[in-house]
Parts: sequence; structure tokens; C-alpha cells
Amino acid sequence: MTASRPLSPGEEERLVAAAKAVRTKASAPYSRFHVGAALLAEDGSIHTGCNVESASYGLTVCAERTAVFKAVSEGVRKFRAVAVVTGADSPTPPCGACRQVLWDQCGEIEVLMSTVSGAQERRTLSSLYPHPFEFGGPK
Ligand SMILES: [Zn+2]
Repeated sequence: MTASRPLSPGEEERLVAAAKAVRTKASAPYSRFHVGAALLAEDGSIHTGCNVESASYGLTVCAERTAVFKAVSEGVRKFRAVAVVTGADSPTPPCGACRQVLWDQCGEIEVLMSTVSGAQERRTLSSLYPHPFEFGGPK
């Protein structure tokens, strides 16, 4: 599967800026690792999410999944890219759980990983997650 049309420099800038902005909303009192994610839909709309941690650690939801669930619950189904911004020293890829959910809902998209200081890395989702689980059960 190939990614949809490439992002323009303007789209990329807007998407990373949205992820950087929503990162400031993260609720991460335990890890203090604040993450922002922004999904670019086919229609040009941007859907953001931040990580929300729980005192019961396993209930924590990452920024990427927050963005996906928000967008899907608003009826958005087609996506082109996701941007993820962290305060780490180098760009941080989505965790395994988020890679699966991104694949489930977005298929092949571009993944733009950035730090707040401006380091960037770009990958396709399939290069980060080459063998996703796909449900083949009853329809
Ligand atoms: Zn995750």
C-alpha cells in the first residue's frame, strides 16, 4: 500500500504546529513526557490529541490514539498523515499500540516525528509497522 499524495510544505508546517500546540495540553503528571499528535484528514481538517495519564498506569492513553479516537468519533475516516511532537532529544515514533490503531483507522500514512527543538524524522506507517494485525474474522 502506498501513501496518499505527499504533503506540501505548508501542510506539513501546519500539522507539526498543531501537534506542538496540543502537546501543551498533555496530562502527564507521572512520566512528565508530554506528547502532542495531529492527524491530517483527506478533507484538510486537522484532529489533535495529547497524552492523558492515569494513576492506574495501564489506563493511560497516548496522544496518537487520543487524536485518532477524537477524529473517528467525529465521523472522519480518511487520513493522510500524523505528526507527533515530544520534548525528547530526538524524534519519538509512536508506540506499538498506537501503530496498530493508526494502521486500523488510517492505513498507510506519513508519520512526521518532531521534537520541540525542531529535529524531524519522516517515515511511512508501514515502515514503522510492517506486519500489522488485521482482523480476518466474521464480517
Ligand atoms: Zn502510543
